Amino acid sequence: MDEKRRDNSQSGCDWGREFDLQSTQPEPLLVRPHHLLCAVCVRGGCETPPCGKQALQELLDRVWENPYMPLRIVPDLEVTHPHYRDVFEQRGAAPLPDRFEQRFADHVARRRDLEVCRRLHIAQEAVIPAMWVYRMLFNRVPTVADICGEADPPSDKWPSCPHAQAGFYEKIAAGEEPEAPDPDQPEKSTREWGMMRARSRSEMDRVKAEAARSIAEVDHLYIRAQHLMCILCAHHYEEPIVADMLVELRYRMEQEPDIPVTITEGCCMVCDNCAVYDPAQNICYSFQIENQLRDLGILRRLGLVPGATLPAGELYQLVYDRIESVADTCTSGDDPNPAPFWPNCSSAQKPHYEQARQKGVITGNPRQD
Ligand code: SF4
Ligand code: SF4
Ligand code: SF4
Repeated sequence: MDEKRRDNSQSGCDWGREFDLQSTQPEPLLVRPHHLLCAVCVRGGCETPPCGKQALQELLDRVWENPYMPLRIVPDLEVTHPHYRDVFEQRGAAPLPDRFEQRFADHVARRRDLEVCRRLHIAQEAVIPAMWVYRMLFNRVPTVADICGEADPPSDKWPSCPHAQAGFYEKIAAGEEPEAPDPDQPEKSTREWGMMRARSRSEMDRVKAEAARSIAEVDHLYIRAQHLMCILCAHHYEEPIVADMLVELRYRMEQEPDIPVTITEGCCMVCDNCAVYDPAQNICYSFQIENQLRDLGILRRLGLVPGATLPAGELYQLVYDRIESVADTCTSGDDPNPAPFWPNCSSAQKPHYEQARQKGVITGNPRQD
């Protein structure tokens, strides 16, 4: 890595003066909040959503192709911003928005928009990756019956959508696994994965075979800081795991503790065959930011920087010396109510890391403390 970049990364946050910050993602796709739901109804079999299938096609296509597609969620609030005298007395002091009358008359959709924002715990104009939008949606909106159904008491001014009780949305939200999984179809297909494409089991198996060969042959390993620890949480696995390369990497380091390991910030050799790994973008659709924060927190505990390289045995000795428990590195211990993007890892409640530390997995030096 060039020295100038390394110096800047160590000296602080003055990157903006030298480089333009750029996103690796496409421009956010503007989406009306209730269209997020209508797209689910269409995926569940609805042919005639009120907005028309055509209005949802770009959302459906782009999310299917890129689960990390940024969605900018925009309720139609513009129609309520003109002054009421301009609206109701035609005062004419300010022009009304395009197609004002038609949009203003759609109070039913505006309520649905805001109700979806409320359920998602977001304000208007929030930009969130599609994966998280749909994960939060299915957690918080198991049914559209109350958002799209009849008013209470019923009113012809507040009509129900004819599909509110049809079960299209609920079929996807409930997320039933197929009875006979097809290895050539996406490995994950329920809930949010009903809206976006995961890798197929046959692709994962093919990549796993290649990755296993590579791990056995290479003379240098690349492992993200968090996965250094996950390898220990999974130390009781004797057989390789279908969706990652944790076990193969542990075996290689146990057999060869002098092998150099470069610590990455972000996805690594563990991720190659994972169902939610995107090799083209080198991102983890499901846990990108929480895992990256863990990478940096662990490196901070180790006193190392991303890209540091140490022999495996020495590296794990340092891990054991500096980190007593994954409760410190893998939970939001100071936050009893973390946002959904920042979940705690359920394995942090289990004793596997501490057991590996006591046994001296990879170092071969059992600890007494
Ligand atoms: S029930 Fe609701 S989400 Fe489904 S098509 Fe109708 S308006 Fe859209
Ligand atoms: S607690 Fe979870 S994230 Fe943390 S090291 Fe263990 S498996 Fe990995
Ligand atoms: S892609 Fe994500 S979930 Fe999969 S192994 Fe990598 S970090 Fe873990």
